[in-house]
Amino acid sequence: MALQFILAASRNIYPNEFMGLLRMEGDVITEVLVLPQSIWGESFASISSAHIPIDNTIVGSVHSHPSPNNRPSETDLVEFGRSGAIHMIAGYPYRGMGDIACYDHSGNKVGIEVVYETGD
Ligand SMILES: [Zn+2]
Repeated sequence: MALQFILAASRNIYPNEFMGLLRMEGDVITEVLVLPQSIWGESFASISSAHIPIDNTIVGSVHSHPSPNNRPSETDLVEFGRSGAIHMIAGYPYRGMGDIACYDHSGNKVGIEVVYETGD
């Protein structure tokens, strides 16, 4: 599921920042798209807007911070305002839902719920 993917990707790329786009079906985030042309750096993660697919199931973004601080930076807030409605930030050590915060396009924290699939 998307949450486990975000946590695993954040751990794998640490201390660099992981960045991806969130795909939503209904009101559930079902997929994280990692773009091959994303720029991954030690303190900066960015996606060139030219490479963002035109797709109305893309609702926002996710990225990791190499510290336990999962509040948006000034740069993050500018990016949030430009793209999508939902933005997630994963803070170190990326162990679970408690390390992930979710914000709207103005940087207000919003609650999200983890949906478990039954598998049946
Ligand atoms: Zn950030």
